Amino acid sequence: MANKDYYEILGVPRDASPDDIKKRYRELVMKYHPDLHKNDPEAAKRMAEINEAYEVLSNPEKRAQYDRFGAVGGQGANAGREYDFNFGGGMGDFFDLDEILRNFGFGGFGFTENRRAYHDTSNRDTNKPTRGEDIEVPLTITLKEAILGTTKEISVTRKEVCPHCKGTGVEPGSGYITCPTCGGTGVVRRVQRSVFGEFVVQTTCPTCHGTGKIPKEKCHVCGGTGVVTETKVVEVKIPPGVDTGVRVRIKGQGNAGLHGGPRGDLYVRITVIPDPSYKREGDKLYYTAHITFPEAVLGTTIKVPLIEGGFETIRIPPGTQNDAEFVIKGKGARVVGSRRRGDLIVKVKVNIPTNPTPEEVLLIEKLKEIYDSKKKGM
Ligand SMILES: [Zn+2]
Ligand SMILES: [Zn+2]
Repeated sequence: MANKDYYEILGVPRDASPDDIKKRYRELVMKYHPDLHKNDPEAAKRMAEINEAYEVLSNPEKRAQYDRFGAVGGQGANAGREYDFNFGGGMGDFFDLDEILRNFGFGGFGFTENRRAYHDTSNRDTNKPTRGEDIEVPLTITLKEAILGTTKEISVTRKEVCPHCKGTGVEPGSGYITCPTCGGTGVVRRVQRSVFGEFVVQTTCPTCHGTGKIPKEKCHVCGGTGVVTETKVVEVKIPPGVDTGVRVRIKGQGNAGLHGGPRGDLYVRITVIPDPSYKREGDKLYYTAHITFPEAVLGTTIKVPLIEGGFETIRIPPGTQNDAEFVIKGKGARVVGSRRRGDLIVKVKVNIPTNPTPEEVLLIEKLKEIYDSKKKGM
C-alpha cells in the first residue's frame, strides 16, 4: 500500500487543490464505478484503489503525512473505515455515488438508505428506545368553556406497551432464531435499473429490521409489535382563552414508545360552538341588549347576563341611540397565555314594534301628531 502513487491513481498533479482532487474523483467514480462495469472483474479493484487514494488525498492531515512519508499510519488508508468489496457478492462500495449522481442532476437512486444500512453494520441494534408518536384528537367545547377554561375527559385510542411481553414482541420464554429472509445478515438486495444500467440496491431487511434475528415465537398478544391498541379515558385540562383551531398539547399522553422510549404527546384540537348570546372578537365579548323606544327615550337599567353566570346591572341613560355601546370591564373573553380578561361590550338595539296593539297605535298616533306640529312650528 505504501508503494502506491495516489496522485498517479487519481491522475492529478502533486500540487492539485482539494477542489481539483474532489472534481477528479467524481469524474473517476462516474467512469469506473463497479456498478457501471458489471462484466469487468477488475472494476471493483480499480474502484477500491481510487477510493483509497481519494481517502488519503482528500484529507489534509493524511495527505501531508503521505507527502512526507509516502504512506499513512494505521492499517493502510482505509483504517477505521468499513470497505468490503465482496460484501453481498461484489456489489462494490457505494461511497458517495448517490451524492455524486445528485450533483450531476440525475437525482438519487435510493442509495442513501442503502449506504446508511451499509455503514451501520457495526450498530444494527434497532431495538433502541424510540419515542411514541403524537396523537391528535378533536374536542368541541362551549364558548363559556373556551373563555374560562375547563377539564374534560376524552376517549383516546392509543398504543400501550404490551403487558404480556413488556414491549419486546417476543413470547416470554421463546428466544430468537436467525432471520430466514436475510439469513442473519440484516440486509436484503434488489436490482434497480437506471440510465447507467443495473444497480444492486441493498436495504435493511424488512423481516428482522436489520437485527438478523427474529423471535422464535412472536408474542401472542401483540403479534410481535410490542404494543397494543387500547382506548383510554384521559383527563385533559383546557386552559382559559382557547379558540377554534387551537391545539392544546398534553405532554406524554400520546402513543407508547418502543423499547422503553418515552410516550408521544397528545394534541387536542379545539372547536368552539358558536354561542347564541355572545360574539367573540379577540379578547372582547359582544352582547346585544334589546330595549323599547320609551326605554331609549326615558332611560332605564338592564340586567346583562355574564358568561360565567350571574348578571351585571347597567344604566341606560335617557336619549340612548340605537347601536349605542356600553362597556362592562373585565367580563369579556381571554386570550391564551394572557392573565388579563377583555371587556364585555353591550350593544343596545331599540326595538321597533312590528305588531302594535290598537291602544299602542292610538298612543303612537298621538305622539306623531305632537312631532308633526313641532315640524310645522319650525
Ligand atoms: Zn432479516
Ligand atoms: Zn406483546
